[in-house]
Amino acid sequence: MQKQLLNLRFIFKTKVMLRTHHCGELRKEHVGNEVTLSGWVQKTRDKGGLLWVDVRDRFGITQLTFEEGSTNEKVLQTARELGREYVIQASGTVVERYAKNDKLLTGDIEIRVNQLNILNASKVPPFKIEDETDGGEDLRLKYRYLDLRRNTVRKKLELRSRMAIAIRNFLSEKAFVEVETPVLIKSTPEGARDFVVPSRINKGEFYALPQSPQTFKQLLMVSGLDRYFQIVKCFRDEDLRADRQPEFTQIDCEMSFVERDDVLDTFEAMTQHLFASIKQVDLGTFPRMTYAEAMEKYGSDKPDVRFGMEFISLNEVAQGKGFNVFDSAELVVGICAKGCAEYTRKQLDELTHYVKTPQVGAKGLVYVKCNPDGTFKSSVDKFYSQEDLKAWAEACGAVPNDLILVLSGSKESTRKQMNQLRLNMGNLLELRDPNQFCPLWVVDFPLFEWDEETQRFHAMHHPFTAPLASDLNLLDTDPGKVRANAYDLVINGVEIGGGSIRIHDKNTQSVMFKHLGFSPEEARSQFGFLMDAFEYGAPPHGGIAFGFDRLCALFGGSETIRDYIAFPKNTSGRDVMIDSPSPVSEEQLNDLGLKLK
Ligand code: ASP
Repeated sequence: MQKQLLNLRFIFKTKVMLRTHHCGELRKEHVGNEVTLSGWVQKTRDKGGLLWVDVRDRFGITQLTFEEGSTNEKVLQTARELGREYVIQASGTVVERYAKNDKLLTGDIEIRVNQLNILNASKVPPFKIEDETDGGEDLRLKYRYLDLRRNTVRKKLELRSRMAIAIRNFLSEKAFVEVETPVLIKSTPEGARDFVVPSRINKGEFYALPQSPQTFKQLLMVSGLDRYFQIVKCFRDEDLRADRQPEFTQIDCEMSFVERDDVLDTFEAMTQHLFASIKQVDLGTFPRMTYAEAMEKYGSDKPDVRFGMEFISLNEVAQGKGFNVFDSAELVVGICAKGCAEYTRKQLDELTHYVKTPQVGAKGLVYVKCNPDGTFKSSVDKFYSQEDLKAWAEACGAVPNDLILVLSGSKESTRKQMNQLRLNMGNLLELRDPNQFCPLWVVDFPLFEWDEETQRFHAMHHPFTAPLASDLNLLDTDPGKVRANAYDLVINGVEIGGGSIRIHDKNTQSVMFKHLGFSPEEARSQFGFLMDAFEYGAPPHGGIAFGFDRLCALFGGSETIRDYIAFPKNTSGRDVMIDSPSPVSEEQLNDLGLKLK
C-alpha cells in the first residue's frame, strides 16, 4: 500500500501535468532531480534571507526553500505573498537538507525553488488544518471540506475505502452479486419511522426511503440471484441519540438454500478476513451464545466479552435470612470484581451513587469485601453471618481481595442495571482494551417483543424472520416464548451485524402478520407483492446486514461513527454545511400538492 503511494507515476501511469511527484514522494535518491510539486501551503517561515514553505497534499509534506540572492526576485516576491492553504505549484531542484527531519517521509531533502505559481489563493481557514486542531465540532462540520484536509480525518475515509474494497473482493469471490435496489420505495417496517418523499406526479402520494433493502433482497432470492450483497445507504427517522445518523450504510447480504450456520460461517469468514487483511488481527473462531444465556450472564443481548465478570444468581444463598429487600426480589444477582476488596468508603459510595443515577436506576448497591485474612465485610452485616457471606463468595468464585457487588429487584430491570454496573467496572478496571477484539454470535432471539405502549407484539428483528421450527407449536399458545432463527454479530459489546433465516412461504408469513396485529387487508396492501412472490417458488433463504459505519469506527478505534462518514449530520440531525433540512419554496410545495392552507 505505502509503496504504491510513494510513486505518483505508478499511480497515474501517465504524464502528470501539474506535478511530477506528490508531496510525500521525494527521497535522497532524487537529489539533483528537477521536479514540480503542487499542493497546499501548510506553513511558511521567513527568516529574512531565507524562506521556507511546507507544501502539503494527501500523500505528505515537502519543504520548499527560497533564498535571497540565489532565488529569482519575482519568485521570492510571490513566495512572500503565500498564506496558509494557498494552492501552489512549485518547480525546482531536489537538494539534500543540512538539518534532516526524521518526522517527515521527505525529511532528508528539500526543493530549491526556481518557479512558483499561485494556483489559487485561500482565506485564512477558520481552524488549523493540523492533526491537533483548534476547531470545535460544529465549526469543523460546517467546513467539513477543510476538516477532511486534516490527515487524521482523511485517513478515516481511506480506511473506509479499503474496507469497502476488501468486502467487495471477498464477497464477489464467493459468488455474491452486487445489486442496487431502489431508494424511492414503499415503507419497510424495521422498527423505525420512514423518511417520506412526496410524489409530484402522483399528488397526495409518497415514496418512502428504505430503512433497509430487506424486501428487495428477499425478492432477489425469489429471482434466483442466489447470493446478493450491496453496500447501501439506509434511512431511519429515529429519535436522535448521540451516535445515530438518519442515513447510514449497511453491508446488506442475502443467500439462498442456506441454514443459519451457513450464513454465520460465511460472514464469520468475511469478518475474519477483514480483520486479518486490514488490521493484521487474527480473530479466531467466534463463540456462539443464545440470547437467553447472554441475558442471564451479562444482562445484555450485546455483551462485551473482552472481560468475564459474569452475573451470578445469589437467590439461593441470599434469600430467607431476614433481609427484606432481597427476600422480596425476583432476582438477587452479583458480580465479582477481582482484587477490589481494598476499595475505600469513597469508592464504594461512588459506585452506589452511580447505580442510583437515573440512567442506571437501581435503588441501592450491596457489597461484600473478601478480606485478605479470609473474613468478610459487607454492607449488610446486620443480616448475614460470616458463614452466609462465605457461601456468597463461593457462589461467585470470589477469593480473598475480591469485591462482590450485588443488585436485586425484578429480573428484567436488575439485569439491565447490573449490565451497566459491569461495564462501568470494566472501564474502571481498564478491562475493555480497545486493541483487543472479541467477537460473539448471539443466536435464538425472541421472535416477538411486547410493546407496553401499544399493548401489542412487535417483531424483535423484523416481520420476515422465521421462527425456530422447534417453537412453531407455541406460536398460537404462547407467542412471547417463540424464538426466532435470528442472530447478531457483536464485537466488544457493539452490535455490528444482524440477520435471520426468513419465512419463505405465504402461510407462515400471513400467520406472522396476524400476530403482529395486521388485518389480512393491511398485510395485503403493504406486503402483497412479497406474499405473491412467495407463491412462485421462493427458495429457503436468509441473510444479514452489517452496520458499515460502525464497523469502520471499530476498526479505527473510535466510538463515533460520524468520524467515518464523509459528510455526516450533527447530533441534531442537521447538515450544518449545506444547512439541511431547510424550508422549500411555496412553489415547490404547490407543485407537490403540499401547500399548507
Ligand atoms: N434488514 C435487516 C436490518 O437492517 C438485516 C437483515 O435481516 O438482513 O437489520
